[in-house]
Amino acid sequence: MGDFDDLIAANRDFATGFKGGDFDGVAQAGVALITCMDSRIDPLRMLGLAHGDAKIFRNPGGRVTAAALEALVLGVHLLGVERVLVIPHTRCAMTESTEAELRERVGVSAGVDASWQPFHVITDQVASLEEDVRKVSSHPLIPERVHVGGFLYDVDTGLIHRRI
Ligand SMILES: [Zn+2]
Repeated sequence: MGDFDDLIAANRDFATGFKGGDFDGVAQAGVALITCMDSRIDPLRMLGLAHGDAKIFRNPGGRVTAAALEALVLGVHLLGVERVLVIPHTRCAMTESTEAELRERVGVSAGVDASWQPFHVITDQVASLEEDVRKVSSHPLIPERVHVGGFLYDVDTGLIHRRI
Protein backbone atom coordinates (compact mmCIF):
# COMPACT_ATOMS: atom_id res chain seq x y z
CA MET A 1 0.00 0.00 0.00
CA GLY A 2 2.84 2.42 0.67
CA ASP A 3 4.29 2.10 -2.82
CA PHE A 4 3.30 5.58 -3.89
CA ASP A 5 3.19 7.45 -0.59
CA ASP A 6 6.02 9.85 -1.44
CA LEU A 7 4.39 10.80 -4.72
CA ILE A 8 0.94 11.16 -3.21
CA ALA A 9 2.38 13.40 -0.50
CA ALA A 10 4.13 15.49 -3.14
CA ASN A 11 0.85 15.75 -5.00
CA ARG A 12 -0.84 17.11 -1.89
CA ASP A 13 1.76 19.89 -1.84
CA PHE A 14 1.30 20.47 -5.55
CA ALA A 15 -2.45 20.78 -5.18
CA THR A 16 -2.17 23.33 -2.38
CA GLY A 17 -3.36 26.56 -3.92
CA PHE A 18 -3.86 24.85 -7.26
CA LYS A 19 -5.83 26.85 -9.76
CA GLY A 20 -7.08 24.29 -12.24
CA GLY A 21 -9.19 26.89 -13.97
CA ASP A 22 -6.13 28.71 -15.28
CA PHE A 23 -5.88 26.43 -18.28
CA ASP A 24 -7.94 24.85 -20.96
CA GLY A 25 -6.58 22.06 -23.12
CA VAL A 26 -5.19 24.36 -25.80
CA ALA A 27 -1.44 24.49 -26.37
CA GLN A 28 -0.89 28.09 -25.28
CA ALA A 29 2.29 28.53 -27.35
CA GLY A 30 0.86 26.61 -30.32
CA VAL A 31 3.61 24.01 -30.02
CA ALA A 32 3.56 20.22 -30.14
CA LEU A 33 6.62 18.07 -29.74
CA ILE A 34 7.37 14.43 -30.18
CA THR A 35 10.38 13.32 -28.19
CA CYS A 36 11.94 10.37 -26.40
CA MET A 37 10.91 9.12 -22.97
CA ASP A 38 14.52 9.59 -21.84
CA SER A 39 14.62 11.23 -18.42
CA ARG A 40 17.52 13.47 -19.48
CA ILE A 41 15.07 15.44 -21.62
CA ASP A 42 13.15 18.30 -20.02
CA PRO A 43 10.83 19.03 -22.95
CA LEU A 44 9.29 22.28 -21.81
CA ARG A 45 12.32 23.92 -20.26
CA MET A 46 14.64 23.04 -23.14
CA LEU A 47 12.45 25.14 -25.44
CA GLY A 48 11.78 27.95 -23.01
CA LEU A 49 8.19 26.84 -22.60
CA ALA A 50 6.03 26.62 -19.51
CA HIS A 51 3.16 24.58 -18.15
CA GLY A 52 0.24 24.78 -20.55
CA ASP A 53 2.28 25.84 -23.57
CA ALA A 54 2.69 22.61 -25.49
CA LYS A 55 1.36 19.20 -26.41
CA ILE A 56 4.01 16.62 -25.61
CA PHE A 57 4.08 13.08 -26.94
CA ARG A 58 6.86 10.79 -25.77
CA ASN A 59 7.90 7.26 -26.57
CA PRO A 60 11.15 5.28 -26.82
CA GLY A 61 13.24 7.04 -29.46
CA GLY A 62 10.87 9.94 -30.03
CA ARG A 63 9.29 8.34 -33.09
CA VAL A 64 6.30 9.49 -35.09
CA THR A 65 4.06 6.48 -34.57
CA ALA A 66 0.39 6.07 -35.49
CA ALA A 67 -0.49 7.19 -31.97
CA ALA A 68 1.75 10.25 -32.31
CA LEU A 69 0.03 11.19 -35.57
CA GLU A 70 -3.35 10.79 -33.89
CA ALA A 71 -2.20 13.20 -31.18
CA LEU A 72 -0.88 15.69 -33.74
CA VAL A 73 -4.08 15.65 -35.79
CA LEU A 74 -6.09 16.42 -32.66
CA GLY A 75 -3.54 19.01 -31.60
CA VAL A 76 -3.57 20.81 -34.93
CA HIS A 77 -7.32 20.89 -35.40
CA LEU A 78 -8.71 21.15 -31.90
CA LEU A 79 -5.95 22.31 -29.57
CA GLY A 80 -4.16 25.22 -31.17
CA VAL A 81 -1.03 23.54 -32.49
CA GLU A 82 0.72 25.52 -35.25
CA ARG A 83 4.29 24.21 -34.99
CA VAL A 84 5.43 20.61 -34.59
CA LEU A 85 8.92 19.63 -33.49
CA VAL A 86 10.17 16.06 -33.74
CA ILE A 87 13.13 15.77 -31.34
CA PRO A 88 15.04 12.54 -30.91
CA HIS A 89 18.31 12.82 -29.00
CA THR A 90 21.94 11.82 -28.90
CA ARG A 91 23.02 8.72 -26.99
CA CYS A 92 19.51 7.26 -27.20
CA ALA A 93 19.22 3.66 -26.06
CA MET A 94 17.05 2.95 -29.08
CA THR A 95 19.98 3.78 -31.36
CA GLU A 96 22.60 1.93 -29.36
CA SER A 97 21.17 -1.59 -29.23
CA THR A 98 19.76 -4.09 -31.67
CA GLU A 99 16.29 -5.47 -31.13
CA ALA A 100 17.88 -8.83 -30.28
CA GLU A 101 20.05 -7.19 -27.61
CA LEU A 102 17.10 -5.42 -26.03
CA ARG A 103 15.06 -8.63 -26.03
CA GLU A 104 17.97 -10.41 -24.40
CA ARG A 105 18.42 -7.77 -21.68
CA VAL A 106 14.70 -7.51 -20.96
CA GLY A 107 14.40 -11.27 -20.95
CA VAL A 108 17.17 -11.54 -18.37
CA SER A 109 15.54 -8.85 -16.22
CA ALA A 110 12.07 -10.38 -16.56
CA GLY A 111 13.23 -13.93 -16.08
CA VAL A 112 10.97 -15.01 -18.92
CA ASP A 113 11.15 -15.09 -22.67
CA ALA A 114 10.96 -11.60 -24.20
CA SER A 115 11.65 -12.58 -27.80
CA TRP A 116 8.08 -11.74 -28.82
CA GLN A 117 8.24 -8.12 -27.59
CA PRO A 118 8.86 -5.63 -30.40
CA PHE A 119 11.40 -2.88 -29.75
CA HIS A 120 11.54 -0.28 -32.47
CA VAL A 121 15.28 0.26 -32.58
CA ILE A 122 16.72 2.98 -34.79
CA THR A 123 19.58 2.08 -37.11
CA ASP A 124 19.97 5.46 -38.86
CA GLN A 125 18.74 8.23 -36.61
CA VAL A 126 18.84 11.06 -39.17
CA ALA A 127 17.12 8.97 -41.84
CA SER A 128 14.45 7.98 -39.31
CA LEU A 129 13.99 11.61 -38.34
CA GLU A 130 13.58 12.64 -41.96
CA GLU A 131 11.04 9.88 -42.47
CA ASP A 132 9.17 10.92 -39.32
CA VAL A 133 9.02 14.57 -40.34
CA ARG A 134 7.70 13.55 -43.74
CA LYS A 135 5.01 11.44 -42.06
CA VAL A 136 3.78 14.56 -40.30
CA SER A 137 4.10 17.04 -43.15
CA SER A 138 2.53 14.71 -45.72
CA HIS A 139 -0.32 13.57 -43.48
CA PRO A 140 -3.64 14.33 -45.22
CA LEU A 141 -5.07 15.84 -42.02
CA ILE A 142 -2.06 18.05 -41.24
CA PRO A 143 -2.53 21.27 -43.23
CA GLU A 144 0.36 23.05 -44.96
CA ARG A 145 0.10 26.02 -42.62
CA VAL A 146 1.55 23.85 -39.84
CA HIS A 147 5.32 24.20 -39.56
CA VAL A 148 7.14 20.92 -39.00
CA GLY A 149 10.80 20.64 -37.99
CA GLY A 150 13.11 17.75 -37.17
CA PHE A 151 15.77 18.37 -34.53
CA LEU A 152 18.34 16.37 -32.63
CA TYR A 153 18.69 17.16 -28.93
CA ASP A 154 22.23 16.86 -27.60
CA VAL A 155 21.97 15.46 -24.08
CA ASP A 156 25.51 16.66 -23.30
CA THR A 157 25.14 20.31 -24.32
CA GLY A 158 21.39 20.85 -23.99
CA LEU A 159 21.26 22.25 -27.53
CA ILE A 160 18.83 21.25 -30.25
CA HIS A 161 20.16 21.12 -33.79
CA ARG A 162 17.81 21.32 -36.73
CA ARG A 163 18.26 18.42 -39.16
CA ILE A 164 15.25 18.86 -41.44
ZN1 LIG B 1 16.00 8.00 -26.13
